[in-house]
Amino acid sequence: MQLSRFPRLRFAHLPTPLERLDRLSRLLDGPTIWIKRDDCTGLGLGGNKTRKLEYLMADALAQGADTVLTVGAVQSNHARQTAAAAARLGLACHLVLEARIGDADQAYTQNGNILLDRLLGARLHEYPSGTDMADAMAEVADQVRRAGGRPYAIPGGGSNPVGALGYVNFALELMAQATEQGVAFDHLIHATGSSGTQAGIVVGLEGLRAGIPVTGITVRRERADQEEQVMALVEATADHVGLKGAVARSAVVANSDYVGPGYGKPTPGMLAALRTLAREEGILLDPVYSGKAMDGLIDLVRRGTFRRGQNILFVHTGGQPALFAYQPTLDRAINE
Ligand SMILES: *Cc1c(COP(=O)(O)O)cnc(C)c1O
Repeated sequence: MQLSRFPRLRFAHLPTPLERLDRLSRLLDGPTIWIKRDDCTGLGLGGNKTRKLEYLMADALAQGADTVLTVGAVQSNHARQTAAAAARLGLACHLVLEARIGDADQAYTQNGNILLDRLLGARLHEYPSGTDMADAMAEVADQVRRAGGRPYAIPGGGSNPVGALGYVNFALELMAQATEQGVAFDHLIHATGSSGTQAGIVVGLEGLRAGIPVTGITVRRERADQEEQVMALVEATADHVGLKGAVARSAVVANSDYVGPGYGKPTPGMLAALRTLAREEGILLDPVYSGKAMDGLIDLVRRGTFRRGQNILFVHTGGQPALFAYQPTLDRAINE
């Protein structure tokens, strides 16, 4: 595996910090918890999509694109980071957004990521929940072409074998830091949605024979569906980097116990995790992804899944702009 064979632009702040969470570890009285701050990738408030976009945007430029398009929910962090990358490269950006949450209030529809998308100069196309978003994006791409533009379509979450390279690279970065800091990780936990993050990490760690099991805490799908989707992208990504067949099905593990009522719907555990990390560590999580993943980590520790003396790594994937989109909910929960 030689990642330098793949075209890449450089706009992420890397390496992201790798830190120990002493107060959280003490509070939970179990294993030592570490955090990899992929919320600090720097581009337009950062997050995990920036690593993927370094490869996706390089591909867009190689194909002669002058416009990028992508899809997501109204509060998509991926859409915001794509808009920022496009601005930085002087490309036009169209965001095809799904009103995936039915009873959204004004904060959700106008604050947080969507406010930033507009500030970053993206063109927004909003569709009702249940729309076939791939079709909608193809339609917008046609409009761009008819107007004389050269569109490059990025799938939801930037999750294809090109975008996943960003997280194969994350695995290389992580192992270099682990060596530097002299820490051996026993388990890695992060939020999984469109699957590119988990697929890239798993391909990278398995390619290195790192021996670190990965658990993706789902934010939308049931375990079996999520694992199937991640495994499909693992196979395509492994093939892309020259590791065809190198990853066993058993290396792909999702846990859907912390989704609650659905995508983007708050849960008591998520709200408690947000409060705990804010007050114990001064770290802000997000309500849709990292808050639910941290709820999962805390619950798994409390259930005794990990032993004292083990090192458990949480990957903070970003998403904090959505805190402002959940203002009414958070306001009620802050002092409960
Ligand atoms: C997109 C996103 C994820 C999930 O990553 P995928 O690669 O889509 O699985 C996790 N956390 C945040 C904050 C995100 O924006």
